Amino acid sequence: MNQPEIPSPPSAPLAGRKRWLQHLPYLSLALFLAAIAALVWLTREYDADEQRTTLISDVLWMEQNLRFHLDRNEVNLQEIGRELFAGQPLAAETEARLASLLNQERGLVQILWLSADGGLLGSIPPRQGDAPPATGRGSAAGDTTFQLARSVGRPVYGPTYPVMGDSYQFEVHVPIWSEDAQPGVVVGVYSLTDLVVRELPWWFSERYRVAVLDADGREIAAKSKVAPVSSRLVYSMPFDPPGHGLTLQITAYKSDTRWIPVLLGASIVLLAGIIVWSVMQLRRQLARRQQAEIALRAESAFRKAMEDSMLTGMRARDLDGRLTYVNSAFCRMTGFTADELLGLKAPMPYWDPEHIEQTFALHREILSGGSAPDGTEVRLRRKNGEALDVLVFEAPLIDATGHHAGWMGSVLDITEQKRAREQARQQEERLQQSSRLITMGEMASTLAHELNQPLAAIASYTSGCINRLQDDQPLDRRELLDIHERIARQARRAGEIIRRVHDFVRRSEPKREPLDLNAVVRDAVGLIEADARKRQMQLRVELASTLPQVEADAVMIEQIVVNLVRNAMDAMRETPTGNRVVEVRSTHLGRFATVSVADRGTGIPEEIAERLFEPFFTTKAEGMGMGLNICRSIAELHHGRLGFELRAGGGTIFTLSLPLDTPA
Ligand code: ADP
Repeated sequence: MNQPEIPSPPSAPLAGRKRWLQHLPYLSLALFLAAIAALVWLTREYDADEQRTTLISDVLWMEQNLRFHLDRNEVNLQEIGRELFAGQPLAAETEARLASLLNQERGLVQILWLSADGGLLGSIPPRQGDAPPATGRGSAAGDTTFQLARSVGRPVYGPTYPVMGDSYQFEVHVPIWSEDAQPGVVVGVYSLTDLVVRELPWWFSERYRVAVLDADGREIAAKSKVAPVSSRLVYSMPFDPPGHGLTLQITAYKSDTRWIPVLLGASIVLLAGIIVWSVMQLRRQLARRQQAEIALRAESAFRKAMEDSMLTGMRARDLDGRLTYVNSAFCRMTGFTADELLGLKAPMPYWDPEHIEQTFALHREILSGGSAPDGTEVRLRRKNGEALDVLVFEAPLIDATGHHAGWMGSVLDITEQKRAREQARQQEERLQQSSRLITMGEMASTLAHELNQPLAAIASYTSGCINRLQDDQPLDRRELLDIHERIARQARRAGEIIRRVHDFVRRSEPKREPLDLNAVVRDAVGLIEADARKRQMQLRVELASTLPQVEADAVMIEQIVVNLVRNAMDAMRETPTGNRVVEVRSTHLGRFATVSVADRGTGIPEEIAERLFEPFFTTKAEGMGMGLNICRSIAELHHGRLGFELRAGGGTIFTLSLPLDTPA
């Protein structure tokens, strides 16, 4: 009723959009990672380009440096050649210059000077014994270079040739001119290794590996034996001069790792990883939440359905007695809507104005500590004015934090049950009354006869008086008083009979009041004694001298006694006249007052005993079979019992026990 509306599940297109939205973070993350990867790649490419550009410019610088070096050596050899061919022996200055040319840094390892026909004129350092010439002198290659230099008149470089293991050398033949004649050629012998290794500055060797390859691509000299890591940054260029297919191959060593971009990239990847992880966690949590929501929705729908289908009314009140919740059954019962009821305080609109004080008392009792565990009956009033009888069970309302937040009452509509109960009660009452009328009908002639006696006596006393008066017989005062006393006694007797009959058959609401059980027994016996006399039965009455009062309806109890005595007399029809005694006794047993009726009749066989109290069970031709049934109902109505036992020596004893209104 006052439940919040449960949101309906999202429609299909909405769900589609939601799914798309769920994938959006992954999509953007993928794009972001792609952008980062592209950025890293571009940076690396840019770095590589830059390294390559640096490599090329460094290589060009090196090449120029080598060329410059070789050119300067050529010029120096030319200059020194003129002095060498000028005359013998060598001047000290020339020797000093030669020594400086042979300095290792220049790459030259030997200088020879040859005559115009190719004969060796001298060399420095000089040849050692019969060691082979330091140069390729005498070889075809050497000759070819010599010839070429002489014919072109310019310095010519020869091919490389191996010397002593894996070291290589090449020569430069520089023709010398003096006054239009060519006196000879100066040959500078270069060690390839010295040239490449020693000529390059330290910073160049740190960055690059320099190797010289021959025409076949074999490495014939190299600076550093360590192989370079990167093969991407390789630059090859012809090594000319000296030429002859030589190639310079420069390879960059792996450059220092640039840590900042690496760290930056790594941290971005790490962060992206964390983002992916957290998005996944979020999604998992979201999925769990969604599942919980679905379960909650189902649970809530189930509860609502259950609540709506419930027939028991539920209403909750806070500790101040303000209505905080009512279910649909409660609204149906009272006819008020939830909106009309929620928030209201006592007196509630559904309280019965005629019972307002009792309802208020009950309300206060509940608020101060709850109601009876087996429920409390309350009369309420529906909105349309109809009476509503309910049974209310109240229980403390404990909230989620364990605090006592108010009271929850379940309310059962018992209007119909009460009406049915009332109808049954009325029916029972009518039955009892009919039964009494029937009993009375059966006893009518006896009672008429009984009534006749005092009336006849009164008539005879009065006619005696009249006769005496008519005969003018003197009537003294004492005599007259006596006669009138007798008349009055008989009239009282008649009045008593009429009162008893009237009391017995009157129809009144059952009225339980403190009662002297002995008086009731006396009345019953008084009503039936005429009948007993007529049937030659003796009634023996023994009443307890002190009997506490019982809470009961006098007429109903009298009806039981009359019934039991009549049944006793019926059972003694065949009993010899002398034994026809009905003993009526009242006693006080513990918390009960009892009336027992004993006879010397037929007794009760076992098969009959079981059915004795059933309605319409009778063994008599004229019987109705309702007597004992009604008697037991009356006893139970008074929270008492009606039972019987077989009497020793024959007959039966019926006993009625009624609880005492005050504990003994
Ligand atoms: P009714 O008197 O109309 O038969 P009751 O309900 O009073 O109806 O009695 C039911 C039956 O119980 C009787 O028909 C009789 O058979 C049996 N009964 C009752 N009282 C006695 C008794 N004192 N001794 C033997 N039988 C009895």
